[in-house]
Amino acid sequence: MKRRFLFIVPVAFILIVSCKNVVDEKQTVQDQCPEWVIVIHGGAGYINQETFSAEKESQHKERMEAALLMGGEILKNGGSSLDAVEAAIRIMEDSPFFNAGRGAVFNADGINEMDASIMDGKTGKAGAVANVTVIKNPISAARKVMEQTKHVMLIKQGAEKFASEQGLDIVDPSYFFTQESWDEHINGLEKEDYGHKGTVGCVALDKNGNLAAGTSTGGMTNKKFGRVGDSPIIGAGTYADNNTCAVSATGHGEFFIRNVVAYDIAARMKYRNENLKDVADDIVNKQLKDIGANGGVIALDKNGNLAMPFNTSSMYRGYLKADETLKVFIFHDR
Ligand code: ASP
Repeated sequence: MKRRFLFIVPVAFILIVSCKNVVDEKQTVQDQCPEWVIVIHGGAGYINQETFSAEKESQHKERMEAALLMGGEILKNGGSSLDAVEAAIRIMEDSPFFNAGRGAVFNADGINEMDASIMDGKTGKAGAVANVTVIKNPISAARKVMEQTKHVMLIKQGAEKFASEQGLDIVDPSYFFTQESWDEHINGLEKEDYGHKGTVGCVALDKNGNLAAGTSTGGMTNKKFGRVGDSPIIGAGTYADNNTCAVSATGHGEFFIRNVVAYDIAARMKYRNENLKDVADDIVNKQLKDIGANGGVIALDKNGNLAMPFNTSSMYRGYLKADETLKVFIFHDR
């Protein structure tokens, strides 16, 4: 019964951590915004809370913590938000537990085709790769596109040739295979469902006030050969602007593309002066939910406020702040 309720009426869940301004004895306003913050997601979906084992729960949480600590170490030492985002995402790409890099879902033809993007909130530059099958860490290829070319996106063999020229690790496609993703592929061939494995993403704010966002995915189980989702599309699955916020999305990509979700959050902050929490909540739990779009976002503003709304029953997510607060969650309540 509980399970049905969770499935039919996904409850809105939002976590907001506010940046407080406090007034000291001289009545000057002291900004207590965190010096740096890193937020990650490992995908939104419909994990069955009753059948998801305690062992699996702790394995996933341990990997999320490792990703946050890796990115956090960079930020603590004064490193850039871009470096932190790339490093945290690489940890999740290397883990078989998430739908990115090793463990990525299979398309309908039984091939792992991956997409990734990254954006620098300071310069407005962005890079992306799509439909890649042999690049070990697609997020690093996206960053190379941003920094080493005049382009924003490279796809298929062009992206792979470029990644190899840049000295990135190239692997045999079998590297990405996991039995679990394969079983999902076989079991899902007849269905058009939205599997529980999810994209990974990261947003970060560094000590210099620079925001960055990145997203990496295998896409959706049994997607059509050649399909590209929202994750590598700047403005849809990833967006960062130092004046507003950094966003990484997860969910049914076609909806996120059509609704330009990541940019819409930043645009509403920019043009309507809305705050991060309200706008992220409205877009995920009203706008997207009303049109049947499953998913969520992680978002971080220039003051270190963060939001992690999702309208599914689960979303792997967590954050680490300069004061060493580290939290990871999978379900609405834990
Ligand atoms: N947004 C991804 C895509 O549509 C999938 C996901 O986040 O689970 O490719």
